[in-house]
Amino acid sequence: MKNQKAREEFEKFLKKEKHRITPERFEVMDYALGYDGHFGADELYVKMKSEHSNISRATVYNTLELLAQCDLLSKRNFGEHKSRYESNYGRKNHDHLICTNCGAIKEFTNSKIAKIVDEISRELGFEVSGYSFNIFGNCLKSDTCKNKLDTKHNIR
Ligand SMILES: [Zn+2]
Ligand SMILES: [Zn+2]
Repeated sequence: MKNQKAREEFEKFLKKEKHRITPERFEVMDYALGYDGHFGADELYVKMKSEHSNISRATVYNTLELLAQCDLLSKRNFGEHKSRYESNYGRKNHDHLICTNCGAIKEFTNSKIAKIVDEISRELGFEVSGYSFNIFGNCLKSDTCKNKLDTKHNIR
């Protein structure tokens, strides 16, 4: 079966937190873990519907929250009006660059950031359960974004 270990983990979590264990929850889990990239709850719902799932919007929304609580998904806030999720299953923790012009999201890892988080938390007596490091700006690799930036800075 697909995502066997994730399935066991999620089932254990649902039992522990006294949530109902339903096939729909695992259907959402499989779609969420298989999604390539960062998605909003509505995007996942639309994708599932387009593939003829009978899932309800409410089930998608609350199952994504549960998957984030049990750490199979990461919940991200990229400065939009909605949260996005991404699979955490078998993936390394990473941070993001977000282009506020075209919406492109680039992932990166840098071991120094984890060290800084560690250092600050130790200094201030804090146990870390997660952190989020987002860099906002304009990408220079897409022509549309670069042109827009050039006009803004009046470089001709
Ligand atoms: Zn861009
Ligand atoms: Zn990411």
